[in-house]
Amino acid sequence: MAEFNMTIRSGNAALHGSDGGAAEVARMLRLAADRIEAGHDYGRCMDDNGNGVGSWDFERTEPEQAECSDCGTEADPDDIGTTCDECGRGIIEAIW
Ligand SMILES: [Zn+2]
Repeated sequence: MAEFNMTIRSGNAALHGSDGGAAEVARMLRLAADRIEAGHDYGRCMDDNGNGVGSWDFERTEPEQAECSDCGTEADPDDIGTTCDECGRGIIEAIW
């Protein structure tokens, strides 16, 4: 599981246009989307004037499921990294 968060502070002049900052927010979302597709998992939001006005990131949470990499048997997430009790060959890995 992962969580995506983006915070943009609206105290900056660039976010006070006649559209209430909608165009600026849309522009920053597109920039973040480009960065995410390029493989980044965090970044800063810059306004049109180059000022930092926020940030975004993926936050990994604890895995809720796990399974054996060899036989695919479901396992307890607490057993991640241990050898599978079922087949004795595979290593228990998190399912994200
Ligand atoms: Zn196994």
